[in-house]
Amino acid sequence: MKPIQLFDPASSTYTYVLFDQTTREAVIIDPVDEQLERDLDCLREYGLKLVWTVETHAHADHITSAGKLAEMAGARTAAPAGCGIGTAAVQLQHGDTLAFGGETLRALHTPGHTAGSMSFVWRDHVFTGDTLLINGCGRTDFQSGSAQDLYRSLTQVLFALPDETTVWPGHDYQGRKHSTIGQEKASNARVAGRSEAEFVALMEALKLPRPRRIDEAVPANLTSGLRHDVDGVLLMQPRSPAKGGYAGDVSPQLAWQWVQSGEAVLVDVRTDAEREWVGFVPGATPLAWKQWPGMAPNPQFDAGIRAAAEGGRKLVLLCRSGVRSIAAAQRATELGLQAYNILEGFEGDPDAQAQRGRLGGWRFHGLPWRQN
Ligand code: FE
Repeated sequence: MKPIQLFDPASSTYTYVLFDQTTREAVIIDPVDEQLERDLDCLREYGLKLVWTVETHAHADHITSAGKLAEMAGARTAAPAGCGIGTAAVQLQHGDTLAFGGETLRALHTPGHTAGSMSFVWRDHVFTGDTLLINGCGRTDFQSGSAQDLYRSLTQVLFALPDETTVWPGHDYQGRKHSTIGQEKASNARVAGRSEAEFVALMEALKLPRPRRIDEAVPANLTSGLRHDVDGVLLMQPRSPAKGGYAGDVSPQLAWQWVQSGEAVLVDVRTDAEREWVGFVPGATPLAWKQWPGMAPNPQFDAGIRAAAEGGRKLVLLCRSGVRSIAAAQRATELGLQAYNILEGFEGDPDAQAQRGRLGGWRFHGLPWRQN
C-alpha cells in the first residue's frame, strides 16, 4: 500500500494522504493552504474521512491548511510538541502513535532542520519532512536548526530504519518522488560517508538565501495556518463585547491559545449535570453560573471565580451557547477581574454558524471542547 502523493508547485511541497482501506479513515501530512480545494477533492474522490492533520514541523516556505481542514473535514490537528504550534490538539512526542482505522502512524523526533521536527513511519514508509530529502537534507541555518542534531537524526534515527523503507520527502525541487533508506544511506550527497564534523562544515558553508515567505509563514503555521485568514482577525485579538460590562469576546481558538500559554484560566460555567451529559472540558475549572433568586450575587460563584483568577490571570468563560458566560463575565468584571466570554460556548449557535457560512462557523474540532 502506498500513500497518495500530492505536489504544490509554488513551494515544491509534497503533501501525503494515507488511509485505511476498510474504514476509509485518513491522515494528511503537511497540507498546503493554497491546495485546500485540491485536498478536499482528493478526500471526496477516494471517499475518505479525514481524522488527522499532521505537520512535520512549523514550515517557513508555505502556510499549512491544517486549521481549515480541521474545520471543514472534521479532522483533529497533531503537530510535534517541540514546534510551538499551540493550536494543534495533539502535541506529539517521540514514539507517539496516531491511529486511523486499523492503521498507525508513528512519530520519530528528528531534530536538526528545526528543533521540533519529526518524521512519521507508516508500515514500510517514512515521511521525512525536511529532515531527509532525496539526495539531500533540509537546511539548518534558521528556526532553531542545528547541523549536529540533523546529522544524528539522519544517521541514528532515520538510517536505523530498514533499508527497504520508502522515503517520502517534504520537498523535491527536481521532480523526484521517493527514495529508500538504503539508497540514501549509500549515496545521499550531504551525509553518506561523512563524519559529523564534515557534515557540519558542509552545512555551514551552504549560505542559502532567506526563504521568501518566512516572516508570514512561520507565525501563521504556529496557529495551524489560521492567523492569516479573514476569520483570523477574530482569532488573534479579542473583540469589544457585544453587550458591555466585561473585557471582551474571544474566539475558541484564541481562548485556547491563551490557556495553553498560561495567560488565561478556562472556567466552565455550565452545571454539573450538563457537563456530565454533554461533555467535560479537560483542564477547565468547573464553576456553575447560578444566580440566586432576585438576581442577587451568588457568594459561591464569587468566591470560586476569585480563586480561579488567582495571581491576576485573565479568565476565559465557557458555557453551552454563550449566554451564561456573558453574565458570568459581567459579574467577574464587577469583582475587578479581567474576564472574557468565549464566543458561541460549548456547542456554538447553529444559526450564527449558518450566517457566518464560511468554514462552517466556528466548529473547530481541534479544540478540547470540540472533541467529537
Ligand atoms: Fe521546512
